[in-house]
Amino acid sequence: MADLTDLTLKAALDGLAARTFSSEEITRAHIAAVEAARPLNAYVLETPDKALDMARAADSRRAAGETAPLLGAPLGVKDLFCTDGVRTTACSNILGNFVPTYESTVTANLWRDGAVMLGKLNLDQFAMGSSNESSCFGPVVNPWRRAGSDVKLTPGGSSGGSAAAVAARLCLGATATDTGGSIRQPAAFTGTVGIKPTYGRCSRWGIVAFASSLDQAGPIARTVEDAAILLNSMAGHDPKDSTSLPAETPDFSAFIGKSVKGLRIGVPREYRADGMPAEIDALWEQGIAWLKDAGCEIVEVSLPHTKYALPAYYIIAPAEASSNLARYDGMRFGLRAEGANLIETYENTRAQGFGEEVKRRILIGTYVLSAGYYDAYYLKALKVRRRIAQDFDQAWEKVDALLTPTAPSAAFALGENADDPVAMYLNDIFTVTVNLAGLPGMSLPAGLDSAGLPLGLQLIGRALDEGTLFSLGGAIEKAANFQARPQLWW
Ligand code: GLN
Repeated sequence: MADLTDLTLKAALDGLAARTFSSEEITRAHIAAVEAARPLNAYVLETPDKALDMARAADSRRAAGETAPLLGAPLGVKDLFCTDGVRTTACSNILGNFVPTYESTVTANLWRDGAVMLGKLNLDQFAMGSSNESSCFGPVVNPWRRAGSDVKLTPGGSSGGSAAAVAARLCLGATATDTGGSIRQPAAFTGTVGIKPTYGRCSRWGIVAFASSLDQAGPIARTVEDAAILLNSMAGHDPKDSTSLPAETPDFSAFIGKSVKGLRIGVPREYRADGMPAEIDALWEQGIAWLKDAGCEIVEVSLPHTKYALPAYYIIAPAEASSNLARYDGMRFGLRAEGANLIETYENTRAQGFGEEVKRRILIGTYVLSAGYYDAYYLKALKVRRRIAQDFDQAWEKVDALLTPTAPSAAFALGENADDPVAMYLNDIFTVTVNLAGLPGMSLPAGLDSAGLPLGLQLIGRALDEGTLFSLGGAIEKAANFQARPQLWW
């Protein structure tokens, strides 16, 4: 039998249904792969005993004649999702050994549908970053390397652990979150598929908050179909999240393979960023050609406020973060660093508990929200955000979806942008607009650069129209026929 960790989620579910192997068998294969891959630092907590219990429970359910959409499939969980009885840290010392007494809605949905949890995955601290280097557990190493080089590359961030684990066959799929690009950029850097659904499609309940008006959960998987299967389970209205949309969850997998003939695809003029590597440009042209071949009509569109997106995002996201992170005061959960009095205890706890990037965001956020600066920065950024959303609304009058690169480069080396926050923020140039407008965006692998590293294309859709993205993603996946995978060196 082929290595069980090499199967796609779909093939694994078919094999489980046909009883070709049991959940316990495929779970054990993954546990072994996870142990062997510790040099990648993708998992910050392995839960093999829990995984085997869940796998045996899945096997019993199946033996009793039950079926469920993910019955017996081993998955990884970004350590930003609260898991009942299992340590959840957001990869920050301030959460210390926090063990939630509740389960996030998204993960609860996965377990309801029969999935098995292998463990918790590394991320940038509080999901702030684009390289996984701000994690208190240290960076994740991308399983991909440049040809002929052993330089350690970033898997991207913040969902670097999720993306690396999926690419390295350490789970069949993983949960992730995306506030400004954290599902799509790591997917692009690791040759995997990631979708950030429409804001409100997946419940935020039980996910450690970063910037609540932008945060959205979604899957990272190895194929477009696998991403659809996972999103089917993750999505759904949740009364516990007031921003959860009361929308029906369609069967996203049914959109794959549907003809995309006649769909109008917008190519935004403003995304032709200065200094973008020629290879990224060429990939974009290739993507355009594939969609043309599939019968789509390509239309140039303008999103004139794009250049203000990054500055607006880096005001709004820190503002919301500074407010959300006020709760970490050493009193209720996680770390407490005692001081001579209450104020000093707060100060010591926050000084020791938060990492540098998190502190930077809290400082920026507090500043832009403070009296005298609120109007000049925060309110202005909100107005820009509205303009950006209007740009998309105007585009939807002419096109059904947009095609862009996912990120302005392939995976870069660990340490390469570490001292330059602005260079790091530029990674989000093609992704943040989508969060600001609340739209769905998918990244999928489309080719390799000259060093043999994966590059991703991004599809952006209308609100609640993930279905079209799955149809288009399926068409690009078929045309790209991306078969490359990282060489096993760990
Ligand atoms: N890289 C962006 C940031 O640092 C986005 C992170 C995310 O989407 N969670 O804020």
